[in-house]
Amino acid sequence: MTRVDALVSQSSGQTPQPGSYEMREMRADDVLIDVAYCGICHSDIHQVASDWGRGNFPMVPGHEITGIVAAVGSEVTRFAVGDRAGIGVLVNSCGECEYCKAGTEQYCPRSVGTYGAVDYDGAITYGGYARQAIARERFVAVIPAGLPLDAAAPLLCAGVTVYSPLRHWGAGPGVSVAVVGMGGLGHMAVKFAKALGCDRVSVLSHSAAKRDDAIAFGADDFIVTSEPGAFKAARNSYDLVINTVSAQLNLKDYLGTLRVGGTMCTVGLPDAPASVGVFDLTARRLALTGSNIGSMAEIEEMLELCADKGILATIETVAADHIAEAFDRVRDSDVRYRFVIDAATIPASDG
Ligand code: NAP
Ligand code: ZN
Repeated sequence: MTRVDALVSQSSGQTPQPGSYEMREMRADDVLIDVAYCGICHSDIHQVASDWGRGNFPMVPGHEITGIVAAVGSEVTRFAVGDRAGIGVLVNSCGECEYCKAGTEQYCPRSVGTYGAVDYDGAITYGGYARQAIARERFVAVIPAGLPLDAAAPLLCAGVTVYSPLRHWGAGPGVSVAVVGMGGLGHMAVKFAKALGCDRVSVLSHSAAKRDDAIAFGADDFIVTSEPGAFKAARNSYDLVINTVSAQLNLKDYLGTLRVGGTMCTVGLPDAPASVGVFDLTARRLALTGSNIGSMAEIEEMLELCADKGILATIETVAADHIAEAFDRVRDSDVRYRFVIDAATIPASDG
């Protein structure tokens, strides 16, 4: 086994600090990556804080990983040492259930998260705030030439998490989309909705200062939800609302912005249950639904679209000694629009 330098949360609530972890032995179908960059997803902050229930500590967060292949197991066919590769939110699934067979392994009941999870052999998984990362080949994506490794990293979670529902619910010509919350996921949703040819793309935000950026990302309009009359003016406007907000919202307001038969898909994961008035759904045949990341096939399709159309995350690169500040700024909705850790700044440690 090798020790890998990493940023580690030793206990619940502790911001990741320089340290190391013991990487499991390589398996025949593994790809080992020298991490170049790893995005900071709000899910990392939720999990370090045990927002969704107590996590597995010590924890090395990070599931938006890009880098260069450092070694491959004997059964690996799609990667060689030196290739550009990425790892997202999952590192394993059963491969046998109806969802795995259908290419929707993100809904496999036995899927294994990239960090803080227990793999089939009992090994704890560790994420991408580290110098190296490992996953079985099936969960490693080829990063197309032309996509820089830093601005491509957030595509592995933020990107595909909004790309998947946009595709599933038919975002494209003839469809009007509202994106609620413009952080890491939200800003990618705006870029993808526009690239897919939606008739109208609106941002519903609680941060007035993001207006110019939203328009630059391709939004047709920007609605500040705290302004009086904002929801009234937006009533009956959209076919699809993608909610990326990490906190509780009054769903009634947002459901009101849908047209009859419209769909509100939540990808944001606040720590408490939401409440919805059933009459709000029935009166206008609305659907309230959710979506979990995206499949490896969708990641591939999305990366190709990104390479084709020059779509990337808008990032701020952060060094390992500024993680606490980055976490605070994400919590304050002040990230523009995804922090990406430069793995080269993770210090060597004695463990
Ligand atoms: P983020 O960068 O922090 O963006 C969230 C955005 O929500 C903020 O930028 C802000 O946008 C808005 N917001 C935050 N607090 C708010 C409040 N109190 N009221 C109204 N709006 C608020 O986070 P992210 O990384 O994009 O992740 C967003 C959520 O998705 C998190 O809960 C994360 O865990 C979850 N997630 C889910 C999946 C999945 O598979 N379903 C995958 C990844 C992440 P404005 O300033 O524009 O209002
Ligand atoms: Zn994520």
